[in-house]
Amino acid sequence: MPRLTRLVACLLATALTACSGRGEGEATRPAGGHGSAGSGKDRGRVILFGIDGADWSVIDPLVDGGRLPAFRKLKEEGATGVLMSLEPSASPALWTSVATGVGPDRHGIRGFVVPAPGAGTGGRAPAGDEGEEGAAATAKQGLRPVTSAMRRTPAFWNILPRFGLKAGVVGWLVTWPAEPVEGFIVSSYLPYIYNWSTGRPLKGTIVKGIPRQTYPEELIDEIDPLMVKPADLDEATLRRFYDPARAARLSREGRECIEGFRWSLACDETYRRIGLHLFERHPVDLFAIYFGGVDVASHRFWKFAYPEALRYGVGAEEAAILGRVIDEYYVYIDGLLGEYLERLAPEDTLVVVSDHGFRPVLLPGRPATSGHHRPEGIIALYGRAARRGHTIAHASLLDVLPTILAILGVPVSMDLEGRVLQDALDPRFALRHPVEFVEGYDLGEPAGGLEASDLDANVLERLRSLGYIN
Ligand SMILES: [Zn+2]
Repeated sequence: MPRLTRLVACLLATALTACSGRGEGEATRPAGGHGSAGSGKDRGRVILFGIDGADWSVIDPLVDGGRLPAFRKLKEEGATGVLMSLEPSASPALWTSVATGVGPDRHGIRGFVVPAPGAGTGGRAPAGDEGEEGAAATAKQGLRPVTSAMRRTPAFWNILPRFGLKAGVVGWLVTWPAEPVEGFIVSSYLPYIYNWSTGRPLKGTIVKGIPRQTYPEELIDEIDPLMVKPADLDEATLRRFYDPARAARLSREGRECIEGFRWSLACDETYRRIGLHLFERHPVDLFAIYFGGVDVASHRFWKFAYPEALRYGVGAEEAAILGRVIDEYYVYIDGLLGEYLERLAPEDTLVVVSDHGFRPVLLPGRPATSGHHRPEGIIALYGRAARRGHTIAHASLLDVLPTILAILGVPVSMDLEGRVLQDALDPRFALRHPVEFVEGYDLGEPAGGLEASDLDANVLERLRSLGYIN
């Protein structure tokens, strides 16, 4: 946000404070929500629900068809709109921008992997969810996975404690190793989790035996019984998405798509169970959870769902078997969203975002990829702070953090790159909770710490023996 605009917003906020007849006190007090030390029950909690790759072009027809009751509620009773993404459109970069409120030039996370120290080839690390396909193949040529220690700017889980608030984070990308926070982090363990048969990275999950996947460390024991592996998914669960009996008749490429899909469903189901468990037992002011499966399904199954979009050359039988995976995944995610809608207290606000949308793509020699990122993602606010039935205009990924901070009554740093989405907020709420700005958060450099390269070289073998990779 340009500095002048920010200044105007600041003045406006000051004016609103005066108009509303409230002192500075309410805005500046380090308020606590549920479970925090403060008495700021008035503040309410924020639930940040992240869906990688969700796109209104898939959601809207399903809402019209009565298949997504939770999204219908968001559209009818919340504020919704398109959320414009950033480049590079690699999910680790984008979700880090959501969490930090700054772009990749500032936070330093650009893709799934970075050149290893001393690699010095001058080669560019693959960036996008498709571009990283060669990551595993080139790993031996001096690339290594990104970790939270490489992030150069504070994320919301670093910022909130400074104002007496707690954050809980589940499955967010680039959160391993889990940093010490007020609250908890269940990280997404990304390094080394590649599908070695296809050379594609798989979505991160919890992996037994890897240190610092949770903060506090002992939290791993509490969530251990909730983990789901691909082999744990029963036939009835899979039948929601495709017919497992007919899947045997698919081509090798179709079966590969299904393999990646089962992995991501198991990851999402793992974080779903962990998320609900922690949300109910360990209250925090900002609870953030990430689900990656819509992105995986959209990359792999677009051509089966929309065979007419491009000249994909999809066989009728494959389209019949795999054509409903994307729609059914949105139905599954809608159910997860509904679980949080049910648990929302009147003073709480739910914020739903995706990091980008999807479009059809035809890539020569890459038949297993038929959907690719487009910049138009989604945003929805629902609950106390949300403006009912409103369409949000001109929202950017960088606006998510300032908006959430404003809802929580946390001052917005002048060096964040986005702005508070005032038009998404209920006018009465906005009047009673004027935005406060600060010059910066003075948190210093993030702590850093454990690197993937510090890990036992046998970790790959361990992953294989546990059935995580082939
Ligand atoms: Zn993707």
